[in-house]
Amino acid sequence: MVEYRDKIPAARGKVEYIYEEGRGISARISHPEPTFHALYQVALSIDGTRLLCTVPVGGLGQTVVAPHPSVPAFVQSDVQGMWGRNCPACEKYFRSEQIVGDTTCPYCSVVAPDLAFVSNDQKRYLTACYDAFANAHMKKQTTSVDIADITDEKSAWHYSEEKQQLVFKCQNTRCSCRTDVLGEYAFCPRCGRSNARERFFEAAQAELVRLEQIRKSVTDRHEREVVWEQMTTGAVSRLEALAKHLRKILVLFPMTANRRKQLQQLNFQKVIESNTLLQQWFDIGFFEWPGDDEAPKRQIATDDREFIRRMVQKRHILIHNGGIVDEEYLRLAGDTSVRLDERIRIKSNEAKRLLTLVSEMAINLLDNVERGFKSGEAKS
Ligand SMILES: [Zn+2]
Ligand SMILES: [Zn+2]
Repeated sequence: MVEYRDKIPAARGKVEYIYEEGRGISARISHPEPTFHALYQVALSIDGTRLLCTVPVGGLGQTVVAPHPSVPAFVQSDVQGMWGRNCPACEKYFRSEQIVGDTTCPYCSVVAPDLAFVSNDQKRYLTACYDAFANAHMKKQTTSVDIADITDEKSAWHYSEEKQQLVFKCQNTRCSCRTDVLGEYAFCPRCGRSNARERFFEAAQAELVRLEQIRKSVTDRHEREVVWEQMTTGAVSRLEALAKHLRKILVLFPMTANRRKQLQQLNFQKVIESNTLLQQWFDIGFFEWPGDDEAPKRQIATDDREFIRRMVQKRHILIHNGGIVDEEYLRLAGDTSVRLDERIRIKSNEAKRLLTLVSEMAINLLDNVERGFKSGEAKS
C-alpha cells in the first residue's frame, strides 16, 4: 500500500514526435498495458514559452482540435490515474483526476482555469516534450520522450507525484472525481462540493456507536464520565473544524478588508457568538436552514439552543479550568445546578444529546454555505 509522502511513479508511457518528409511532425502515444493510466494534451505556444490550452481528449474516430499553430505536449498521470496539481492562489499541492475545465482548489476553494493548476514538475515535463518536438523539427528525425527509461529523480524527464493523506471520491454522482489531499476536509476540484458532508457524519455516527458501547461495556462510573467529557470536547472541535473549512468559501465573497479580517478571526468554538455574527453578516448560521427545493426548512428549538450554550461553556471549563466551575461559567452557562468551585459532571444522555445537536448544526451550516447563496429574486 502506498503511504503518505511516498513517491508515486508516473505511469509508463512514451510520446513520439514522428518526422515525415513533406508532412511535418505528428505525435504518437504508445504505452505498455496495464501500467498506463491516462494522459492529457496541452497545446504549447510555438516558441515553447506558454501553455495555450488543455486539449480535450478525442474518442475513437474523433478529431482532436488544437489551436493552430501550437506544439502538442502531453502530461501523463501517475500509476493511480491522478495528476499532481498546485493551486495558483494558495500554492498547495494535491493530486486529482480533474484536469480539464475550471478547477476548484480543494484547500482554499479558489476557482481557476485548469492550466493554472499545472504543477511545476509537470511544467518541466512539458518542456521536455517541447524539446523533443523541437529536436524532431530541427534534425528532421523522429524523437521520443520515454518515461520508463528515466530513473534519475532529478532529471527533467522524470516526474513522479507525491502521495498526500486522504484519497476521496466525490459523492456527487454526476462527478465522482478522485482527489488526494492533505488533511481531512476538502472541496472537489471538479464540482466544488465539500467532502465534509460524508466525512463529518461518518465521524459523528461512529461517536454515537461508541457511546452506546461504553454505556454497555464500561461499569466504572468515573471511567465512563471521562469518555463523556472527551465526547463533549471532541464534538465541538469537529464542528469548529467544519466551520473553518466552510469559511474558506465565505472569505472569497466580496467584502471589505475589515469584515474579511473579522471573519478570518471568528472563533467557532464560541458557537453562540459566532452564530450571531454569521447571521448578521451573511444571514446564515448553525441553528436554521431556511429550506429549498431539495431540503425543507429546519430549526433547532430554543431549549436545545440553551442546552448547546450550557454544554459549550462546560467544554470551555473542562479545557481551561480542569472542569471547575468559575464565575464566568456561572454567568454564561445559565446552569443553576452547580456552585462556584464545584467540579462539573457530564452525563451520557447529555453527551448523546450534544452529539446529535452538533450534527444538526453541521448539516445546517453545510446547507447554508453550499446551497444558501443563490443569485436571483428573493422568494416572497
Ligand atoms: Zn488553493
Ligand atoms: Zn465533485
